[in-house]
Amino acid sequence: MAFARYALGFHRCSQTIACRSIHGAPTLATARKNSLLAPLDTFQERHIGPNEHEVSQMLSQVGYDSMDAFIADTVPPKIRVSTANISNETIPSFSESELHARAKALGGQNVAFKSYIGMGYHCAVVPPVILRNVMENPQWYTPYTPYQPEIAQGRLESLVNYQTMIMSLTSMDIANASLLDEATAAAEGMVMAFVSSGHKKRTFLVDSGVLPQTISVLRTRAKGFGIKVLVEDASVAVKDQSLQPDLCGVLIQYPDVDGNIKDFGELAVTAHSSGALVVCATDLLALTMLKPPGEWGADIVFGNSARFGVPAGYGGPHAAFFAVTDKLKRKMPGRLIGRSRDATGAPAYRLALQTREQHIRRERATSNVCTSQALLANMAAMYVVYHGPVGLQRIANKVHVIAQIFKSSVENLGYKLLNSTFFDTITLDVSVAGGAQAVHDIAKSARVNLRHIDDQHVGVTFDESVTQADLETLVTIFASAVKSSGQLVLPSEGSSIPSSLQRTSEYLRHPVFNKHHSETEMLRYMNHLASKDLGLVHSMIPLGSCTMKLNSTSSMIPLTWPEFSAVHPFAPHEQVEGYLSIIKELEDDLCKITGFHAASLQPNSGAAGEYAGLCVIRAYHESRGEGHRDICLIPLSAHGTNPASAVMAGLKVVPVKALSDGSLDLEDLTIKAEKHKDNLAAFMITYPSTFGVFEDGVQDACKIIHDNGGQVYLDGANLNAQIGLTNPATCGGDVCHMNLHKTFAIPHGGGGPGVGPICVAEHLAPFLPSHRSLPQIAGSKAIEAVSAAPFGSASIHLISWAYIKMLGGRGLADSSKVALLNANYMASRLSEHYNVRYTNKHGRVAHELLIDLAEFDRSAGLKVTDFAKRLQDYGFHPPTCSWPTSTCMLIEPTESEPLEEIDRFCDAMIQIRREAEDVVTGKQPRDNNVLKNAPHPVSVLAEEEWSRPYSRRTAVYPLPWLLEKKFWPTVSRIDDAYGDLNLICDCPSVEEVAS
Ligand SMILES: *Cc1c(COP(=O)(O)O)cnc(C)c1O
Repeated sequence: MAFARYALGFHRCSQTIACRSIHGAPTLATARKNSLLAPLDTFQERHIGPNEHEVSQMLSQVGYDSMDAFIADTVPPKIRVSTANISNETIPSFSESELHARAKALGGQNVAFKSYIGMGYHCAVVPPVILRNVMENPQWYTPYTPYQPEIAQGRLESLVNYQTMIMSLTSMDIANASLLDEATAAAEGMVMAFVSSGHKKRTFLVDSGVLPQTISVLRTRAKGFGIKVLVEDASVAVKDQSLQPDLCGVLIQYPDVDGNIKDFGELAVTAHSSGALVVCATDLLALTMLKPPGEWGADIVFGNSARFGVPAGYGGPHAAFFAVTDKLKRKMPGRLIGRSRDATGAPAYRLALQTREQHIRRERATSNVCTSQALLANMAAMYVVYHGPVGLQRIANKVHVIAQIFKSSVENLGYKLLNSTFFDTITLDVSVAGGAQAVHDIAKSARVNLRHIDDQHVGVTFDESVTQADLETLVTIFASAVKSSGQLVLPSEGSSIPSSLQRTSEYLRHPVFNKHHSETEMLRYMNHLASKDLGLVHSMIPLGSCTMKLNSTSSMIPLTWPEFSAVHPFAPHEQVEGYLSIIKELEDDLCKITGFHAASLQPNSGAAGEYAGLCVIRAYHESRGEGHRDICLIPLSAHGTNPASAVMAGLKVVPVKALSDGSLDLEDLTIKAEKHKDNLAAFMITYPSTFGVFEDGVQDACKIIHDNGGQVYLDGANLNAQIGLTNPATCGGDVCHMNLHKTFAIPHGGGGPGVGPICVAEHLAPFLPSHRSLPQIAGSKAIEAVSAAPFGSASIHLISWAYIKMLGGRGLADSSKVALLNANYMASRLSEHYNVRYTNKHGRVAHELLIDLAEFDRSAGLKVTDFAKRLQDYGFHPPTCSWPTSTCMLIEPTESEPLEEIDRFCDAMIQIRREAEDVVTGKQPRDNNVLKNAPHPVSVLAEEEWSRPYSRRTAVYPLPWLLEKKFWPTVSRIDDAYGDLNLICDCPSVEEVAS
């Protein structure tokens, strides 16, 4: 890898101890080997739910007397890897405290200077009340995407606050609940412009003031759609009549990368008259002072909301925002939260226009966003709730004044400024100081990072964190560079924002942004919302394919240490050696685990990984003169992001059938592969299959593809069943992505963040995504960036790094085994009551199981949703519903769940089966029963009249343990259709609240 040279050797703590031993005497390391001094805070028994005794109990329920015999029947022998492959020899294990010591030591190697680099990243100030009660609070970070709105009203309300905040500051009609990062949001905007032109106009004009990392990502994305990206002075080029007929959109940055605030009103008029959309990148804090893009003609507005209280984290995670005009709302990518009402007519929030979600549209999609950045959007929303419009105004004014003082002070020293208009960013000509390098050298000795533009220019960006002392240091740097002594000079002018572009409209008047400003109120508001949401802090979340396992506190702690959180992604590499070591170690471990050769941590979600992997495959074919290969075979059972990603990479999707037992139809695969052999680019396969079985024929399937000139993409979302037992390379794949937010214990955050790294075989390694901030290698075949930051959401890599290091090879393999055992135990208990749809020839499922509820629809009109909503009354988050088969539930317990919890879940499912039986036999009416009426919130229970054909107690306490341990849904079943018909995606206004 390009950056391997920055990696440090990996020294285990025990070796350090050994060095200090007395020559000749038995060393302490030997003592440790003999377990005398071995640490007691080992992670494995904290992470894996069932203890040894429970494991044997479960094995015997499934019919085995040893784990080995069970695994032999579960994982096909021909794909098994040697146990030596993933062991404590290959991946040593650290105790919790050893890991912390190691993280501290590496954190100490991040010596990030005070950053004025800007370029879309700032030193955010995270209000402590939000840091501790949202970012570090498992009630906020462990829930799943709010697909079950009755038990997710808290974060849905907060995400609506986020959308409202974006709509208000940008003055746009509608905003989504976040995208992955600013650069990919730009790419979404570009594709929307292309789609809006009816896929006809292929030129996308990008202003030269747009962030360079955004332009890289646009170039990558443009390729798949056949769009031409033209980087020029957009205000001039937009008038070019030879360009106009083919122009689908214009992208501008407001203020631009150098700090200029330009009036794009005329550009918007010209673009619109030629039928092009205006796409605008902007800055939320600046918009408190600037005329918002919605007031001068932008159609799509996006940017990064991280400066609202989200740490930079060496590149992420953070939430990109995305807002559009009303007429574009149905084409908008990402998740959208809207208001609706529940079964009693009470107001309630839920995901809106879901059929619009691109991964549901499969090959008709133009975007693949699934996991986004919910947790970070919630942090930004809470920041605005906390500060309110008045607080934001004060912050913005201060930042602006600091920039103005800086400007006057350096002008006083003889520097020339390139921009006369600005909000927070100033670009200087530093020739009076003898060039940029001289200034950088002095800055370095003062521990300050400036933006390097070229030999004669540097940039300075200010933010909320800058103090008077910081400003003095900065001015002193510029003074020493011209051998002078600096002083702060007060600005002579009132505002450096052109008067025609100053904001006059009000913003954020909504009550929610104007009342929670004391810490007491803020704490209570956040806690009030959190109390409505079911997370892993309450009970298991057995979502098939989503792998909701323990997000251990010990793996989360280093994340918010300043040495990891306050780091700019473009900081010089010698200042981030701690990060680079962690990244290198994580990449190496992921390669060992997958059996592949090289990795990229850049993609910000599983779907982004799929896209990156397919782009790598395309680049590989191109390098061999086979760029025409554009067919991608995908089984019908695949996750919806697969076909969506393929389309984005410019591939044509050809579906492959599945057999009635859920396995791949190898005959159909052969026919399709041979038919398309001249143009076959790739085959995407999920393994174990989305039906939850290890198929025997996976290696044969891969061979068929390779024989016909294609590459195999393995969707590794289900890697949890494989580690240490088999791996994607052995199965026959060439590239795979992993969901670090599934298998590798990054919390789901209520819908993000995520990390979707890809690992590739040796022949694909040269094509892995590059980044302009990484060392450039001459003659490199790498594809351009797929994310804004060089290592994507770098700070959360720490969680997966810690997870792997603490479990060690043996713990990882044991986790896979127990994950398989938990699922098979559950299958064994439930199969007496439900139809477990697929098993292998030994009767075994993989790490998840599919149960089919079709019979209840036929006999009693009960749907999958009715079972799911009823599970909420039992305090459980329902499993994955109606996917990959519409009549099924896909259940995945994971290794973290102890036997008692698995039994509680099985008991609940079995009791619901009895309740369903009462409807089947006619004891309970078909349209008025505990399932159809579920869930039952307190408000329903407390109604004066109770006329239902079952008791209140049956409704809410159907099993005795619920009396002690009950999670209450806060609303009754939500009416989706009503909300989509009456689409409202912002929070109640002053007028609404008053009435
Ligand atoms: C979760 C999942 C994905 C998508 O991952 P995101 O991080 O949500 O983009 C893709 N494929 C499968 C099988 C999955 O389970």
